[in-house]
This record gives sequence, C-alpha cells and structure tokens, in this order.
Amino acid sequence: MGELLNKIMKTQELKQKYLKFFASKGHKVISSASLIPENDPTVLFTTAGMHPLVPYLLGEKHSAGTRLTDFQKCIRTGDIDEVGDKWHLTFLEMLGNWSLNDYWKEDSLSWSFEFLTKVLEIPVNKLAVSIFEGDDNAPFDSESYKIWKNLGLPENKIYKYDKKENWWGPAGTTGPCGPDSEIFYITDKPVCGPDCQPSCSCGKYVEIWNNVFMEYFKDEKGNYNKAKNRNVDTGMGVARTVAVLNGFTDNYEIDTVKPVVQKIEEISGKKYLENKEITNSMRIVSDHIRASVMIMGDNMGVAPGNVDQGYVVRKLIRRAIHHGKKLGIENNFCVELSKVVIDIFAPAYPEIKKNEEFVILEMKKEEEKFRKVLNISPEKFKKKFIKLMNKFGKEGIEAHIKQPGQAVQIVNPLITGREAFALYSQEGIPKEEIIKLAKENKFILDIEDLNRIFAVEEKKHRDLSRAGAEQKFKGGLADTGEESKKLHTATHLLQAALRQVLGVHVKQKGSNITADRLRFDFSHSEKMTDEEKQKVEDLVNGWIKEDLEVKCEELPYDEAKNKGAIGLSEDKYGEVVKVYNVGEISKELCGGPHIGRTGELGIFKIKKEEASSAGIRRIKAVLK
Ligand code: ATP
Ligand code: MG
Repeated sequence: MGELLNKIMKTQELKQKYLKFFASKGHKVISSASLIPENDPTVLFTTAGMHPLVPYLLGEKHSAGTRLTDFQKCIRTGDIDEVGDKWHLTFLEMLGNWSLNDYWKEDSLSWSFEFLTKVLEIPVNKLAVSIFEGDDNAPFDSESYKIWKNLGLPENKIYKYDKKENWWGPAGTTGPCGPDSEIFYITDKPVCGPDCQPSCSCGKYVEIWNNVFMEYFKDEKGNYNKAKNRNVDTGMGVARTVAVLNGFTDNYEIDTVKPVVQKIEEISGKKYLENKEITNSMRIVSDHIRASVMIMGDNMGVAPGNVDQGYVVRKLIRRAIHHGKKLGIENNFCVELSKVVIDIFAPAYPEIKKNEEFVILEMKKEEEKFRKVLNISPEKFKKKFIKLMNKFGKEGIEAHIKQPGQAVQIVNPLITGREAFALYSQEGIPKEEIIKLAKENKFILDIEDLNRIFAVEEKKHRDLSRAGAEQKFKGGLADTGEESKKLHTATHLLQAALRQVLGVHVKQKGSNITADRLRFDFSHSEKMTDEEKQKVEDLVNGWIKEDLEVKCEELPYDEAKNKGAIGLSEDKYGEVVKVYNVGEISKELCGGPHIGRTGELGIFKIKKEEASSAGIRRIKAVLK
C-alpha cells in the first residue's frame, strides 16, 4: 500500500465520474443488461459491456444514438481458475463507451487519457499502453501510436504487440475485427526481471482499460478489408481501477469486496494475507460468493442446478465451501456472506434486494445439500462410486469381484482419473475430497491419471468459456438468420397464448433461440395439461393464419408502460424502449429482430413442456 495515488475512491464514485465524463462528450447513458443474455444460445453469461450491444455493433440502429456509455455487470467463467491471483474476478463490473460508426481513434484515446489523467488525476508516468505492431494482414497501428505520443506518452511506454495481444476478432471465420489498444497502470511492485513489461503476468502492470477499434472486415477469402462501419468498443475494469487509485495491491481491498473478506476473517478467525494458502482461499471464497449471489439475484436469476448457468452457480458455491473448509470453516457460512454481498450491491443493482429471499433460500439449500455430500458415509461413497463406475468406466471394473449369486463386492477397487472426474462433475465432490475419501476407503487411486484427466477437462472447459466472448459475436451474426427471426416472433405469440390460457401471472424467465427451435422459460407452478398445450398451439396457429402485421415502435418507458407493454423492467425507466406489436394480441419489449408478418411462420408445434426449476416451466417448440 502507500502507493503514489492514495486516493479514497469508491466504486460508486468512479462509475458516476465515468458516466458523467462521457455524457459530457455527447454519450447517452444506457442501462446495464442482465447477467444472463436473452435470446442467445451461444453463451451463458454477459462477459463484457459489449455483449448486449452486439446487434448495434453489427449495424442495427440504437434508439439512444451513436455514442453510448454504461456500466455492465459481467461474469467470466473463463477466468475462474485465475481467481486467487490479485487481479482476476469471476464477477466484475465494466465501464464502457461506444462509438457506432461515429468518433474514431483520436477521440477515443484522447478521452481515455483525459479521463485517467485529468478526472482521476493519475500521473502520466504511472501509465503504459500497448498497440498493434502490424503483420501480413494489417499494418502497424501508426494512428494510435501517433495519438499516444501526442498525448504525452513517452515512446518507451508504448508497447507494440502482435495479434495475440492487441487484436480483436473476427469471432467466426469472417466478420468485423481490428486492432486494440490496452492501457496499463504501473504499480510499485518491483519488476519480475529485466524483460518485465505489460504483456507479462507478474502483476507489475495492471490492465485497466481496453479500446477496441473495429476497423476491418475479414472476408471468406481471408482478406482483411477496411470495414464499412467503424465502431469503437471500450471496457474499463471497475475493480482494478478503484484498487490502483486507492493504492491497493489487489482487488480485495476495494469497497465492493473488502466487507466480504472481513466477514470471512471474522468467521474463520484467520487473517487475510496471513500466508499464501489462506490468502488464496479467502480470495476464492469471497469472489465465488459474490459471483453466485449476483447470478442468483439477477432479474433473470438462476438457482444452482446441473446444467447451464445453474451448474456454474453450483460449482461456484461448492468451490467456495471447499475453500471455506481449507480455512477451517466447518459450519454453514454462505448465507451470512451472501447477506454482506447483497448489502454491497443493492444500491447499484436493486434487483438483488428484490430477489433477496430467493438468493438466501437457494444458497441455504445448496450449502446443506453439499455438506451432505461432503459428510458422505464410507458406505454411501462406495455405493455412489459403484453407480458411477457402472455408468462411466470400464477400466476399473476388473477390480470388482462379482461372485455368482452375491452382491457386488469391492476389493480395493481402482479409481481411474475419469471416474474421479465423474465424481467431481456429477456429484460436485472436489478433487482433494475425492483423494481423501479414496484413502479413507482404501481405494486405489491412480493419481497421475486423475491429475491428467482433470487438467484435460479443465482446459476443455476454459477453452469453451473463453470462446464464449467471441462466440457471442458470432451468435449475433448467425442469429439474424430467417429461421431464428421467425422463432423470435413465434416466442411473442407463445407468451401471449400462455397468458390467455394459463393466466397473466405467466412471465418470461428466459429464452433461448437457435435456428431449429425456441426455448421459453416462464413462471407457472404446475405441469401443463395436454388440453392446455393444445389450446396454446391452436391460439398461436390461429394468429399465424390471420397473417398479423409485426410492427416495432420506439417509445419512452412510461408510454410503453401505459400502453400495457409486457417485459418492461424498472431499470429501463427513463429510456426509449423498443416495443414489438403483433397485431392486437402482443405488445412486448424486445430487441428484435422479427419478421414482418405472422403468415410467414408456418405451423407452430410444442415439442416439450417440463419443469425448469422451482415455479418455472420450460417449453421447447418448433415451426414446421
Ligand atoms: P486480462 O488480460 O487481464 O485478463 P482481458 O484482456 O481479458 O484482461 P478485456 O477483455 O479487454 O480484458 O476486458 C476489459 C477490462 O476489463 C480489462 O482491461 C480489465 O480492466 C477488466 N477485466 C477483464 N477481466 C477481468 C477480471 N477477470 N476481473 C477483473 N477485471 C477484469
Ligand atoms: Mg482475460
């Protein structure tokens, strides 16, 4: 601590300063979106401020104009294994400003610089930047280089890197892409060696802000052509910036994290930074409880479960409990920490307070459930193990001796890496617990195999999640196809029909559309009868036959509300919103895209109706 700046800067204050600054540069402040992207099959969470803006970065008109700014809550599951270091969180807030084919590099970089050095008063000598060095496809970003130099950055603080470091996109094989310029804060930490520089991960340089310039379009032939629309996308890490402004040496002393760490200290009787292991576990516990609370408390909140977002929540909570154990905490503690997190974030994200009861209940249930797994009796462990072995592996089967006419007997069975991983992924038993239980039960464990399988599986998962951010863009591109447009429109009809048949308590809780089918989650507590399903199908198909017009209007929030539009959330208050009307039967908030008339839809068919989670049903349907 005791670094140069020593400001007292709170998260809320940084956010306000940022939005005010960019508003003064002609940006419209827009509201932040849900952590769970709507209508997007390709990615589980919003991982950057840019996500909700993908359609606009691809050319759709935004009702707030061409200069936008906001703060956005994000979840980066791809960084989960990074957590424990100083600067990576799973739940993070990102500030951003965007130019939709409006201003370009000069304004973007100058404003970033002005905000950092004038508004936040960071001395220029504490900053370093990186830019794209150029290669066969695209030249050196000399424009950014000149701008940084003119702003007063010395040449030796302008680092030039290749595509790996300073290039964004395209997401798929073709699409928008371009160079970026990252801004680093230089901490007082000693350099790790003579070659220490921003690209190094030792923590000396903290990346606080990234400016992406979508300058090119990569075509099918692999050529990088200048793009028609030039967009700017920037993202500033709130936690990191607040931390360095205060002179803190990691994310964990800032106002939105510290109270959680303090509570863990209180419960465990241990001290943060006491030693490496304790520090690591405290970071993981505080990060994971923050992240799981924010996911559950979102407007589209998801409870712990076995698939998709629910699985991530489960994994976060269980990992937190596991690390709690390492800190010596044997009693339930997650609810107590959740309350601290809710208090921290309620002012910025009122939804979390609204959903408090749900969050606390689900957190309590999950912790109790997991403690049961952890305290599993040797007998039960054996049983589960056999079940999994039958299901997943043949390698260990010789170790079972099955006597004719007798039950399965275990004689020092061998647990392979794959089976151990199954125990982890299916039952949530952490790796270290499996090793412990195996020893206690005198099972033979192939540790080498286990480590190898875990490493392979974790890498797979990481790659998948990392791909997520880029996939989102691809999803945005692919998603404007005719089939998914039709399914978007059909989803509106489905909701209107459900509200007629089941009642107006039906509210959308989630939606996911691919080119082949729609999936719609809604609040309703009972299984639908065959008759109800038939009625819903008949209504929708009736509206399709009527060939109703689909019209989009842009309205101020209040007017949309007065007109009875559904799907409004309070966080859109004061904004102009897009409302889609299907004839007279549906009036619903939506980002689109939709087809022009319902007659184009074909025949609507419900494929499946099932429980999604408590009080929420899920319908899968197709158009034929
Ligand atoms: P890093 O290389 O440090 O992981 P990144 O290149 O993944 O960062 P971007 O995708 O450019 O980061 O995100 C924009 C900004 O968000 C970063 O400059 C950083 O300040 C912040 N950020 C990114 N990932 C995290 C994280 N896991 N925790 C906290 N802040 C983050
Ligand atoms: Mg990263």
